[in-house]
Amino acid sequence: MVNDLKEVILIKEGEIFLKGLNKTNFEARLIKNIKKSLQNLGNFKIVKAQSTLTIFPEEGFCFDIAIKKIAKIFGIAAFCKAFAIKKDFDEIKNKVILLFKEDLNGCKTFKVVSKRSDKNFVFSSPQICEKLGEYILEKFDNLTVELKKPDVTVNVEIRDYFAFIYCKKQEGAKGMPVASAGGAMLLLSGGIDSPVAGWMMAKRGLKIHAIHFISPPYTGQRALDKVKELALILSDWVGSLPFHIVNVTKLQEELKKNCPENLFTILLRRAMMKISQEVAKDQNKKGFASINALITGESLNQVASQTTGALNCTDCVCDFVVLRPLIGMDKEQIIAIADKINTFKTSILPYEDCCTVFTPKHPKTNPKLEEIKKAEEKVDLDFLIKDCLQNVEFILIKKN
Ligand code: ATP
Ligand code: MG
Repeated sequence: MVNDLKEVILIKEGEIFLKGLNKTNFEARLIKNIKKSLQNLGNFKIVKAQSTLTIFPEEGFCFDIAIKKIAKIFGIAAFCKAFAIKKDFDEIKNKVILLFKEDLNGCKTFKVVSKRSDKNFVFSSPQICEKLGEYILEKFDNLTVELKKPDVTVNVEIRDYFAFIYCKKQEGAKGMPVASAGGAMLLLSGGIDSPVAGWMMAKRGLKIHAIHFISPPYTGQRALDKVKELALILSDWVGSLPFHIVNVTKLQEELKKNCPENLFTILLRRAMMKISQEVAKDQNKKGFASINALITGESLNQVASQTTGALNCTDCVCDFVVLRPLIGMDKEQIIAIADKINTFKTSILPYEDCCTVFTPKHPKTNPKLEEIKKAEEKVDLDFLIKDCLQNVEFILIKKN
């Protein structure tokens, strides 16, 4: 048992550190997100200094779960378990040998990296590297110094009250803290693409709200459960996720019965956009959200409704900007992200989606706005949309 040392977590801020006057707002949001994510793991304090947040856990804190959760918080460049020790060079030398023995024994090359924000410390950063490096070489016969790609990097940071030492830094989730830049409504289907799109936009700092369209009896409970499961997986990264479910059966049946078959998907997509926007505006009005964008998983030319011509026809029903982060990505790239964020396995479960229920055999690839508008005149679209908006079901998706 090593006395006189505290195990802490050091968190290095990501892109936030490029911010100017707004930086404190972004930092405050990141701290809030960290507190929320770790709230059930025991007591801890967060101390902020020089673009680093230090988590000082109290007795009983679930360290290992915290590390896993921190890996999924946007706005963090890197993080690590570290030891906070006395700011005394002998103490640093001894503790490095004692605590990192296993790592240093099991490798061939190492280097020391040092940072000193307390300029009163007896040695400069290069001196710390040199002296500590020499000491490590004395103690371990197996080691040589390698500055470019060492097997182990011993880090020493001399800060206000402690020296921090660590040797295993992990990559953070990068990006901006969720909800540091307003909110957006994600059109979430059971496919591969839209969960990835939501993840990408949360990574850029948006608070994600989701909307999903169902079409019973053509779509079933298992299809809906699958989308809820996707939302739950997403909530690991984006935090609690307000989730709206809208029944579009009647709207779809009317479009199918009265409008040209080859325009069906694009007509449905326009209606979905309008409904999503209305639900978002209603949430804003009630003070539950500040949404000013829609997000879809559309990717250019993936299907007929995702050509530039078709996208022009969907965009023009929206006041909000429509964010399509996958627009220039290949399916392979999208799948790689789906895999990484753990949605892929659920996305490929074979349940029907409302978009695939009445899919036309030969959808029009380059529809003109005039023909779309003419087709919409065949139904009472305002009434049908209002009807959909009457019974929007709401659930808050979140992990315990
Ligand atoms: P896939 O991975 O099979 O392409 P997808 O969800 O992207 O899945 P598309 O037909 O390409 O399916 O749909 C384009 C976009 O429309 C989706 O990314 C999603 O944003 C939206 N969308 C489709 N169906 C629904 C739905 N039932 N509810 C909400 N949004 C939907
Ligand atoms: Mg798609």
